[in-house]
Amino acid sequence: SENKKSLGVALVGLGIYSTYELAPSLLETKHCHLAGIVTGTPEKENIWAEKYKIPKENIYNYDNFDTIINNDSIDIVYVVLPNAMHADFCIRAAKAGKHVICEKPMAVSVAECQAIIDACAKANVKLSVGYRLHSEPHTQEIQRIVKEKEFGKINFITTEAGYPSYGNPDPDQWRLNKALSGGGALMNMGVYAIQGAIYGTGENPISVTAQEFSTKPSYFKDTDETITAQFEFPSGAVGSIFTSHNAKADRLYASCDKGWFELDIAYTYGPLHGRTSKGNEITFPHKRQQALQMDDFALHITQGLPNKVPGSMGLRDLKIVEAIYQSIKEGGKKIA
Ligand code: NDP
Repeated sequence: SENKKSLGVALVGLGIYSTYELAPSLLETKHCHLAGIVTGTPEKENIWAEKYKIPKENIYNYDNFDTIINNDSIDIVYVVLPNAMHADFCIRAAKAGKHVICEKPMAVSVAECQAIIDACAKANVKLSVGYRLHSEPHTQEIQRIVKEKEFGKINFITTEAGYPSYGNPDPDQWRLNKALSGGGALMNMGVYAIQGAIYGTGENPISVTAQEFSTKPSYFKDTDETITAQFEFPSGAVGSIFTSHNAKADRLYASCDKGWFELDIAYTYGPLHGRTSKGNEITFPHKRQQALQMDDFALHITQGLPNKVPGSMGLRDLKIVEAIYQSIKEGGKKIA
């Protein structure tokens, strides 16, 4: 696949994200295109085949998926399934010799993340996680500010990512079912707050202390509703994160020796927006983040450009997720 001009992507799981974000984005990508689909819902096959001109031989279900090994028009398998299914399908994709993009959160445990990483290494295929913001210009500007220490030492960061999940009226939705999601707000949106705290300081936390709040236990029966956590960083900076399935939140703010910077909107599909203490707006023309993300991964495969979101980053975040759940359960500060 390294010699191809445009890599073929197969989406696994044709839900909301594949339908409304990834497939339309694959019409805008320059270095990859939608070549195949993997679905457990037979009615979706014809609809997608017609809409995206997908040939019959590039349509799979969850049972015959492994035969994708014989299909040279598929280079990348993009796993867009409920979180607890990520590891199984990423490992099967690697065994079929396909490069892998795994949606966030990478999996439901550190052990599963490691298993995905090992399978991709063994099969000699590339692996990325669906953290689209690493290809997004406002986020990249924050990364630049942090790297160049434009406002001096960062002392405090706060990041908040959440939305009320009643928008989906289905009480049986997989995100509220721990067996399929691995957890609630923290797994779904908390990983964005963790990501923001890390790229907003340029450091990995060394400790976490966390608290859980449940204001609607009759709705959130099985998964966490709202979590706050505090981080300590090696430089001495401290951080505070908030995530919720009950409240809207979408912000990153950093306080530094010589000023501050912030993004709000910080995590959704955009356009993002921000500003700094210098009085300037952080604003760039809007492009579909997912198109930028998938093109970056394709160029990593074909031209050896850096992998902006390696599997190790997904694993790192699950370590922090596990430390947060551990702190909530046992109380006190945990090593991240
Ligand atoms: P949906 O519920 O909309 O879609 C999930 C799809 O997975 C279903 O449509 C179905 O596809 C397939 N599926 C297979 N087994 C099951 C099952 N037991 N229960 C439910 N669905 C099943 O979810 P999303 O598209 O919103 O999310 C999918 C993944 O993408 C998640 O990991 C999520 O965290 C991630 N995501 C990432 C975003 C980002 O910004 N990076 C944004 C949104 C989601 P089919 O009918 O084809 O079999």
